[in-house]
Amino acid sequence: AIFLPAAVLLSQTPTLEAAELERTFIAIKPDGVQRGLISEIIHRFERKGYKLVAIKLLIPSKEFAETHYDDLRGRPFFNGLCDFLSSGPVVAMVWEGQGVIKYGRKLIGATSPHNSEPGTIRGDLAISVGRNIIHGSDGPETAKAEIALWFKPEELVNYTSNAEKWLYE
Ligand code: ADP
Repeated sequence: AIFLPAAVLLSQTPTLEAAELERTFIAIKPDGVQRGLISEIIHRFERKGYKLVAIKLLIPSKEFAETHYDDLRGRPFFNGLCDFLSSGPVVAMVWEGQGVIKYGRKLIGATSPHNSEPGTIRGDLAISVGRNIIHGSDGPETAKAEIALWFKPEELVNYTSNAEKWLYE
């Protein structure tokens, strides 16, 4: 075995700050809001241990919805999807934590609720793909772009959660 000095081992250990840096954009779509699922959805991210760093309720314009779903332009459901996203209040949020982008997608489940596993948000709470109640960024670049689209920098709240020392070693 190779014994490394403690200082080297420490320098290789990811810091809590590094873990905290990962953020993802999560939105409860108008169907989730209308069906009274706001608290149910927030509860699942909160109890996992992720930290809420931004939240607001708004009705996005059609143009805003089109910008958000820009990569889906040309798909047959694009217009209906953007009409739907702009049809009522949306809860826009930023959640922070180690691995939150990828694991957040696991909590959400597959795009079509027909394929979402039981235990996931879409698996437990939705039936059709066009009414799948929640959006979550699908990767680090998308997360960065979506957070910047939906929030001003000053709307992101930096704070230390007391739970962090019990969530991360
Ligand atoms: P996800 O939301 O899981 O990242 P996509 O980015 O592929 O999925 O699609 C965005 C949203 O468009 C989906 O959440 C869903 O509401 C809607 N959508 C995707 N595919 C279809 C489809 N075949 N018919 C209707 N709506 C769809």
